[in-house]
Amino acid sequence: MVLHDKLGFLMSSAHALSPAVLIRELIDSPAVQRAFEFVDSHLDEITEEQIRICSIPAPPFGEQQRAEYLRTRFLALGLTDAKIDEEGNCLALRRGQSAAPLLVVSAHLDTVFPEGTDTTVRREGNRLLAPGISDDGCGLAALIAIADALRTARIETDGSLLFVGTVGEEGEGNLRGVRHLLTRGEWTNRIDAFLSFDGHGTERITNRALGSRRYRVRLRGMGGHSWSDFGIANPVHALGRAITRLVSYPAPMNPRTTFNVGRIEGGKSINAIPQEASMDVDLRSAGADELLKLDAFFRRAIREAVDDENAMSRHGGRPLELKVDLIGERPGGETGPDTPLVRFAWEATEALGHKPALDQASTDSNLPISLNIAALTLGAGGTASNAHSLDEWYDPRGRDIGLKRGLLVVLAMAGLRK
Ligand SMILES: [Zn+2]
Repeated sequence: MVLHDKLGFLMSSAHALSPAVLIRELIDSPAVQRAFEFVDSHLDEITEEQIRICSIPAPPFGEQQRAEYLRTRFLALGLTDAKIDEEGNCLALRRGQSAAPLLVVSAHLDTVFPEGTDTTVRREGNRLLAPGISDDGCGLAALIAIADALRTARIETDGSLLFVGTVGEEGEGNLRGVRHLLTRGEWTNRIDAFLSFDGHGTERITNRALGSRRYRVRLRGMGGHSWSDFGIANPVHALGRAITRLVSYPAPMNPRTTFNVGRIEGGKSINAIPQEASMDVDLRSAGADELLKLDAFFRRAIREAVDDENAMSRHGGRPLELKVDLIGERPGGETGPDTPLVRFAWEATEALGHKPALDQASTDSNLPISLNIAALTLGAGGTASNAHSLDEWYDPRGRDIGLKRGLLVVLAMAGLRK
C-alpha cells in the first residue's frame, strides 16, 4: 500500500530509529527546542487566539465565517494555497522537501450550537467559559500555534503538511468535511496520514474509531376514528412493536454495543388512529462486525413489526408504508497500536512526562481510519469540561504539553530536515 511504502521509506531513510529514540532526538534538536520556546513564550497569545476563534460563531452548516478567519491566519503564517474548498473546509499547505508523505493536521470548525448562541468568552479565575471554547476552539488554536511555532523556529520537513479546519464533524454534520477531503476533494488519494486535534487533554490518544449508524424511521397509514375504525393498522402501535423487538437485542458489553431510540413522534389526538409516526434511532458499537449485526437485527425488527401490524389489520385497508432513512453513518475501525503514528504519539506523551492512554471515540479520524489511512485524534492540552453544553469551560494550564506533543508527532511523521 502507498501509505506503508511512503512511511516505510521515510522511516528507513530519514531515521531508522525506534520511535522512542526518534522522539528523544527530536526533543534534543535545536530546531525543536526553538519551537518549544515559542510555545512557552506565547501561551497568552495562543489563549487570545482561542478566544477570538471561539467568538466567531460556527453553527452546524454555518462555519463559513470561522473558515474564512482561519484562512487569513494560515496565509499570515506563510502557508500556501490557502483556500476554502467546495464543502467549506479551510485548507493550507506547508510544503516540505517533497510532496509526500503528506500529513493532514486538522481540527474541526463546527460546534453543536445553533445559530444565535452567544459565544462570547468569559473568564473566571483560570477558566475560559463559552460554548465551543474547548471543542474545538482548543484544537483550532493548536493548528495556528503549531504553524506559528514551525515558522518561528525555521523548521523544514521532509514530507509536507496539509493544515485543515474541517466542517461538519459534529452530529448532523456526519463528517461531511473530512469525507469530502478524503473521498472527493483535490487531495483525495494523496493523503498518507491524518492527525486531528479535538478538545483538551495531554494524555488521550484516540486511535480507535467508534462506529455508529443513525436512522429515521417513518410510518404512514390511513388513520381514522379510535372506536369506529378500530382495526386499521396503527403507525404508533407498529413503532411500539418495533421498539419491543429492538430492546430485546442482547447487546454485548465487549465490544461495547449500544442502541437508543432517542426521539419518537406521532399522532394528533387521543381518540384518533394516527396517520403518521416516526422515530430516530442511534446504533453504536466498538466492533465493526457487531455494528453490522445490530444494524441487520434492527432493520429486520422494523420490517417484522410493520408486517405484524399490517397482518393484524381487520379492515383490509391500506397497509402501513415504511420509510427507513440512514441519516448518519460513522464507520468504525482502528489505527493499530504498533503503527508509527500511534507509537510516536505514545512516546511523545511519555517523553513529556505524561501517561499516554489509548482510547476510542467518534471523531474526524473515523473516516480516514475506515479508508485505511493511519489516523488519530489528540487532545490539544489543558483541561476542560461540559463540552456540547452552554456551560463548557477550558483551563489553558497544561496547554504547552499538548502543543509540544502535537509538534513532536507532526515532526516524527513528516521528518525534520537537518
Ligand atoms: Zn470535537
